[in-house]
Amino acid sequence: MATSARYHSHYDVIIVGGSFSGAACAKRLVDSGYSTLILEHKKLPRHKPCSGIVSPRGHRFLLENFGPVPDEAVHSPKTCRGVVFHYPSMLSMPMDFHYGPTLHLNRKYSDHWALLQSGADVHERTHLESVEDKGTSVEVIARTEGEHIRYRARYVMGADGPNSTVVRSVYPGYEKTIPWFKVKQYFHERIDCPLDDDYFHFWVHPDLGFYTWSHLRNEGQIVGVGYGAGDDLNKRHERVVSYLEEKHGVRLKPTEKREGSINNFGLSLINRYVFGKGNIIITGQAAGFLNIIAEGMSCALHSGAIAGEATVDALRYNNSIQDTYRKMISSEVKRCSDQWNPFKIIFGNPHEADFMAALKRHSRSDRRRIIRDIWSFLRPWGKYGWGRQIVTQAVFRRLIDAYAPSRWL
Ligand SMILES: Cc1cc2nc3c(=O)[nH]c(=O)nc-3n(C[C@H](O)[C@H](O)[C@H](O)COP(=O)(O)OP(=O)(O)OC[C@H]3O[C@@H](n4cnc5c(N)ncnc54)[C@H](O)[C@@H]3O)c2cc1C
Repeated sequence: MATSARYHSHYDVIIVGGSFSGAACAKRLVDSGYSTLILEHKKLPRHKPCSGIVSPRGHRFLLENFGPVPDEAVHSPKTCRGVVFHYPSMLSMPMDFHYGPTLHLNRKYSDHWALLQSGADVHERTHLESVEDKGTSVEVIARTEGEHIRYRARYVMGADGPNSTVVRSVYPGYEKTIPWFKVKQYFHERIDCPLDDDYFHFWVHPDLGFYTWSHLRNEGQIVGVGYGAGDDLNKRHERVVSYLEEKHGVRLKPTEKREGSINNFGLSLINRYVFGKGNIIITGQAAGFLNIIAEGMSCALHSGAIAGEATVDALRYNNSIQDTYRKMISSEVKRCSDQWNPFKIIFGNPHEADFMAALKRHSRSDRRRIIRDIWSFLRPWGKYGWGRQIVTQAVFRRLIDAYAPSRWL
């Protein structure tokens, strides 16, 4: 296979994945004058299942690095004020984003726009199959329209999302060592929906699923469910729809469309990031970056930019890219893992909406009910054995003011 492959020209850096982490990384490299190619296996602009609520920090990154987001890259309603947590006791907790509403992105166009703004060369419909580190360069084998192509670059960046081929290629068998989670979103026409349309709604409810959400998009209502990879999400979804009708008066027409994806949730909770080997580094969700309630765009953008800066440094001064990247990325590790750190949640306000302030707005007895509800929501997660690891990592964070790099792959 590889021997008959056509050869493509040599690049300083090849980035696998044409999404936000790839675009942010490419922007740093192109701005510093390095030849950069992005490989994207879908035809562009490509669809991506996502709620599209970019956090204020992610929105600022887009503005500062790529400019104002064009209208076609935003869904209706254009903005989102914040998140409402709903509990089994029927208490709810609205939390507004810091600095006001943020954008509701249409990932098909926002990602393509960011990609174009980066200035990198892009080969679409080009699926990465494998990477091989040759010591002073990396050989990349990809496939486009049935034909194999070889590329060569000084460095390669895996920015190819949760189910990363780069990670699989660098760490064979890795995918069998972590739990996988399925999420699916279902699109409905609305009959009646009393939920506040200005917010993203999330149910902290153990009987509904690990990840249950709903919000308005383009006149329709999205209902999403997430669970372990072996679960029947269609059944879960039916249950959520009945629950929403019974408890919240939400009446929806039958599902018009559904779309799902598989996710590597959990790595940021327990500080088990995957950053690559030799001349290959990993960034974005492929590396494990995912903030609370699966907000992944801001950390994809920031980690991607850091990966780009580390690569510029390695190219310019002939430094070890691994040492440089691992040093530089620790700031984003702190930001992301702090979101799950119980000490930070209680004393530090690590999110972009104030959970503790929202909790304090409730009476003492309601606060107790909410804490009980959160505890019962966390119980089914016990089988992953993350609780003790989260607490140990939180203690480390206090003692050495960092999350231990020894836990990263
Ligand atoms: C249902 C759902 C809702 C979400 N809602 C939100 C939200 O509201 N707000 C938020 O901030 N985050 C949300 N997220 C998370 C967010 O979408 C991701 O964390 C973020 O997009 C990660 O960015 P990335 O650049 O690391 O990877 P991705 O966005 O996953 O992009 C990876 C890219 O690599 C390409 N690719 C993959 N394999 C290959 C290959 N072998 N060869 C070439 N190309 C390849 C893919 O086509 C894709 O374009 C949601 C996720 C899901 C699943």
